[in-house]
Amino acid sequence: MANIIDGKLISMDIKNEVKEKAAKLKEKGIEPCLAVVLVGEDPASQVYVRNKKKACEYCGIKSLSYELSGDTTEEELLALIDELNNNKECNGILVQLPLPKHIDENKILLKILPEKDVDGFHPYNVGLLSIGKADLKACTPAGCIELIKRSGVDITGKNCVVVGRSNIVGKPVGMLLLSENGTVTTCHSKTNDIKFVCRQADIIVAAVGIPKFVKGDMVKEGVVVIDVGINRMENGKLCGDVDFEEVEKKASYITPVPGGVGPMTIAMLMNNCIVACCKQNNVVC
Ligand code: NAD
Repeated sequence: MANIIDGKLISMDIKNEVKEKAAKLKEKGIEPCLAVVLVGEDPASQVYVRNKKKACEYCGIKSLSYELSGDTTEEELLALIDELNNNKECNGILVQLPLPKHIDENKILLKILPEKDVDGFHPYNVGLLSIGKADLKACTPAGCIELIKRSGVDITGKNCVVVGRSNIVGKPVGMLLLSENGTVTTCHSKTNDIKFVCRQADIIVAAVGIPKFVKGDMVKEGVVVIDVGINRMENGKLCGDVDFEEVEKKASYITPVPGGVGPMTIAMLMNNCIVACCKQNNVVC
């Protein structure tokens, strides 16, 4: 039976560490601050934004909230980003995705100053990640690494297989595992014989977006499994990209869904706010 990696607990530890750092910054007269921008009324995005603001409150990070109507133009949004880029009080800018179709997401992400890009999506920060020098790392991928390391698993020298090559999860997870001295293979929809590749893995990170994609016969005994997938099933329940029932029997460590990677994203966002704030104020944190 596998050890279940408790993402709720680990994310709470991280938020408590952030809270302590935020309190120390306040003693120095510095108040960390995140601007959260939401365009439109998408219910899921509204929930995400509410949770991010709640996490800020918990950690002692000030949040500036911008809830704009769905017919906001690209120019108006770019102007707001410009204003926030120039606002010395604001250390991080988070634009909740997806944006309405008439707004070019890429243009908006490029407009955010890299030092305020707490989502870690700006190509400048992605570039730094690829050379192992990023301060602001994409939150979900960084959360996967924390789950592995805080479970006491050493990534050095391990065969790591990432299933999925998206820009927001698969690719950055691969780069981070490489920075941790893993031997990394990335699988995707065109990979031949995924089963064979996955069976070589000491560590698997699944980010495919297909419910229960990784089956018991695709993994070897003792594998460490991080399941990034969040799939809503017909019965309303959430399900990961890993067949938990099957894989758990062979894994040494595994994340559940929900309660694994999910809660880590916001915790790492909070951490990025502190990193950005420290960097901008020239203090060590
Ligand atoms: P995506 O759709 O952008 O990418 C999926 C990747 O899987 C692609 O690179 C594709 O090549 C690969 N793929 C698709 N079919 C495949 C197949 N048959 N065999 C092998 N590879 C295949 O998805 P994403 O944005 O990377 O998200 C992946 C999952 O993670 C989704 O379930 C998403 O909801 C979840 N997610 C969770 C969090 C979080 O926990 N906070 C954050 C982001 C994404």
